[in-house]
Amino acid sequence: AARAAREVVVDPVSTRDGVAVQVLANAGSLADVERAVAWGADGIGLFRTEFVFMQAATPPDEDEQAAHYAAIAEAAQGRPVTFRTLDIGGDKPVPGLHVEAEANPFLGVRGVRLTLANEDLFVAQLRALARTAAAFPGIKVMVPMVSGLEELDQVRALLAEHAPDAAFGFGTMVEVPSAATIAPELAEEVDFLSVGTNDLTAYVLAADRGNTGLDYLYDEFHPAVLRTLHQIRSGAGATPVSICGELAGEPRALALLVGLGYHQLSVSGPLVPEVKSAVRELTAAATAEGVAAVLRARRRSEVDAALDILAQLGM
Ligand code: PEP
Ligand code: MG
Repeated sequence: AARAAREVVVDPVSTRDGVAVQVLANAGSLADVERAVAWGADGIGLFRTEFVFMQAATPPDEDEQAAHYAAIAEAAQGRPVTFRTLDIGGDKPVPGLHVEAEANPFLGVRGVRLTLANEDLFVAQLRALARTAAAFPGIKVMVPMVSGLEELDQVRALLAEHAPDAAFGFGTMVEVPSAATIAPELAEEVDFLSVGTNDLTAYVLAADRGNTGLDYLYDEFHPAVLRTLHQIRSGAGATPVSICGELAGEPRALALLVGLGYHQLSVSGPLVPEVKSAVRELTAAATAEGVAAVLRARRRSEVDAALDILAQLGM
């Protein structure tokens, strides 16, 4: 109860013209969370729960997971923590969990598809997260690889049946192009969206993010990726939208992302201090024209030129 009474600690930085931007950290372990706090993160914008499953010989049960998640929430010292439900697939085996080998694991049974197909596993995780949210303020839960409203319906049905008192904010990742297209409908049904630019880039460009032979194609600054980010943010209306993919920590993207209306950025922990100082240097109101120019760019070379102009406008 002492914990529950604690206020959520949020102390975002602001641009020169007063736009508050939360700079959160991505984390995958307790040590990551401790370091993120030391680096001054405003919270954990993406906690990848995979690690909790990878380090055990068999999938941890509800009690074991609840203990892990409580330790993580405790380490965040009152800052908000967004837990992502298990995000694995055929390419990433979890000890003790049978996952079918697939010809195309990145287009296969992964993320929410896999957890919905393993209901007991999913329910144990959702219940453990609900217990964490009952003890700590500022806990959110989001679901990876969502492609349509039906998947959220199914997750919500599981919650209603097995964790009806769950008090966490409920959100969805946007990392599949279909989810970007239906951002308005998703936004109406959840508390927040979080854009995973790593997978989104891969799926928009049909380029495997891990295939070095495709490095020339896999490009978060491709005009189609940037326009998709605009589509998501503008489509989501008043619903909060964060970015938790690598693009959020790219210095060249900062003025663009803030200009597009992304005011919650979750970055790799060591980048938190520099992203915060860059936000303090920015004048958001000055960037509108530059943002429009980036969105008009037709080639990567034009994106680069527009980003250079944007950087000058935003200073
Ligand atoms: C992403 O896809 O951008 C993301 C944040 O998730 P992950 O990198 O864990 O797939
Ligand atoms: Mg992803």
